[in-house]
Amino acid sequence: MNIVLLGAPGAGKGTQAKFIVEEYGIPQISTGDILRAAVANETPLGLEAKKFMDAGNLVPDALVVGLVKDRLTAGDTERGFILDGFPRTIPQAEALDEALAEVGKAIELALSVDVDFDVIVKRLTTRRTCRACGRITNASEGSTCSACGGELYQRDDDNETTVRNRLEVYEAQTAPLIDYYAAKGILKRVDGDRDVEIVRGEVFDLLDAL
Ligand code: AMP
Repeated sequence: MNIVLLGAPGAGKGTQAKFIVEEYGIPQISTGDILRAAVANETPLGLEAKKFMDAGNLVPDALVVGLVKDRLTAGDTERGFILDGFPRTIPQAEALDEALAEVGKAIELALSVDVDFDVIVKRLTTRRTCRACGRITNASEGSTCSACGGELYQRDDDNETTVRNRLEVYEAQTAPLIDYYAAKGILKRVDGDRDVEIVRGEVFDLLDAL
């Protein structure tokens, strides 16, 4: 099961990816998470990526493609994987297809989680993430994760100015991937502006049909 999750930042890709990990036992590969870890650890990649991320711009393709290719060589991707936040540009999608073809694999499903931008701005500016378990929640939960007791924090790039730029970047550079995967006949879309459990049910139905 080789899956790409598409959708604007804040559409709910990360939340649905975590549900898929639990249900199907395949790993989530989130380039945003990998880059944030590199920034936190102050690695050369992290130091390079930080300035792009803080402004809400995309990190250069060459850096991101390299790290995804490395990650896809790990044994836990043998039965499949969910790419979350990658590809974000047509050149990234082409590089991914080439890398997979070299090992006799291909993307089987590109799943787009669709949510209106107005809803997204509100969601992202109130989004909180648990430092301990990675759970994504909302400012109304306070500062402690109700699932594990970890600290809830706001991502540096979840302020309104950066969010609006991220949405513009999405529209210009990432939205064209919808047509890219539609042309391959592997695109499915779900309405992400509903209760997460309802979206989860629809996502599982699509995966079960693979
Ligand atoms: P995300 O957590 O997916 O919203 O990503 C946070 C930030 O990391 C983005 O705004 C970009 O700066 C960077 N990033 C994540 N994935 C990619 C990617 N595939 N290509 C370029 N930049 C990325």
